[in-house]
Amino acid sequence: MMTHIGILIETTADGIKPALNGVITAARGPEHKLYGLVFDGKSAAYKDELQAFGIHKIVDIQSDEGLLNWNPDCWARAMVDALDYFEIDTLFGLTSFQTKDVFPRIAALLDAPLLLDCIGVDLRTLTAEKSQFSGKTIATFKLGGTHYLFGIRPNVIDPQPSPVTAEVLSFKTKISEESLTVEAVKEDAGDAIDLAEAPIIIAGGRAMQNAGNFRILYECAQVLGAAVGASRVAVDAGWVPHSMQVGQTGTTVSPNLYIACGISGSVQHFAGMKTAQVIVAINTDPQAAMMQNCDYGIVGDLFDVIPILTRRLKSALNDK
Ligand SMILES: Cc1cc2nc3c(=O)[nH]c(=O)nc-3n(C[C@H](O)[C@H](O)[C@H](O)COP(=O)(O)OP(=O)(O)OC[C@H]3O[C@@H](n4cnc5c(N)ncnc54)[C@H](O)[C@@H]3O)c2cc1C
Repeated sequence: MMTHIGILIETTADGIKPALNGVITAARGPEHKLYGLVFDGKSAAYKDELQAFGIHKIVDIQSDEGLLNWNPDCWARAMVDALDYFEIDTLFGLTSFQTKDVFPRIAALLDAPLLLDCIGVDLRTLTAEKSQFSGKTIATFKLGGTHYLFGIRPNVIDPQPSPVTAEVLSFKTKISEESLTVEAVKEDAGDAIDLAEAPIIIAGGRAMQNAGNFRILYECAQVLGAAVGASRVAVDAGWVPHSMQVGQTGTTVSPNLYIACGISGSVQHFAGMKTAQVIVAINTDPQAAMMQNCDYGIVGDLFDVIPILTRRLKSALNDK
């Protein structure tokens, strides 16, 4: 029997969030019909990308008055409405700020189990995996009930195209803003890449010494198209905001490439980045835990190494 699966398509001004392609890959299956749920009214513009990854139906969710602006309460009720209409019993999304705001509301409305930050999902057995205890163990959860909600950790699932022909549909919900009104949405300053979803991260620790020195990381990040992260020491010292902290009490990241600059590699820091596909460490101490647990280690002073790295990357990427 065909299983109908919904995927919340999160978008930015640049289009669909790139990490969503891994989520769509995780949701696919021979008996699965995938519904992409879109709120910004631009379904037609996303058709090529979504059908390339296997979305069968792209649903523009709107109210009678038009677009539903961001409002987690309203979006949750509109999605429950759409799930009911399209007979969708399983919902996937990225584990992001938006999903963390809206999925628990849907789970409450449907009395359904919700698992966020999954690193793997098997819908045949209705099980999902999450890493626990700072990444020391992996727990397998078995879900029961009639509806299931999964938030996938960004970048843990390799996106694999699987082209189909998608149909664009419009779904009008009667839901309107009632119990909760969003007065204003404030974006993070600048056009910084979201740390949790960034494919490349360059992070600095205590060795950065002060806020101003982070400039060399921003310069390198700009060349690489990377986000900048930090250890807790750098955050506690007030050099960078907490939103940049990677680790047990910060953000968990899973980029393709993580460059740790002057970070010793405490268990709490590793807890937040150990699933990175490639780890590069720059450290003066070859015995530092980060150096012992990286794919490539550069023994050296980061104030010498990073400017050279930035220069070399710039010319290598320009030559392409
Ligand atoms: C409950 C709890 C939760 C925590 N949560 C987190 C968390 O979420 N994230 C986190 O990061 N930490 C966390 N910590 C803190 C953690 O234990 C470490 O103290 C912290 O990660 C160390 O940060 P660091 O690596 O920047 O500093 P250090 O451990 O001091 O390491 C600095 C490194 O820089 C190298 N170095 C020095 N100068 C240079 C140079 N010029 N060039 C290159 N390398 C140089 C040194 O050799 C050293 O390896 C937590 C701690 C606790 C108790």
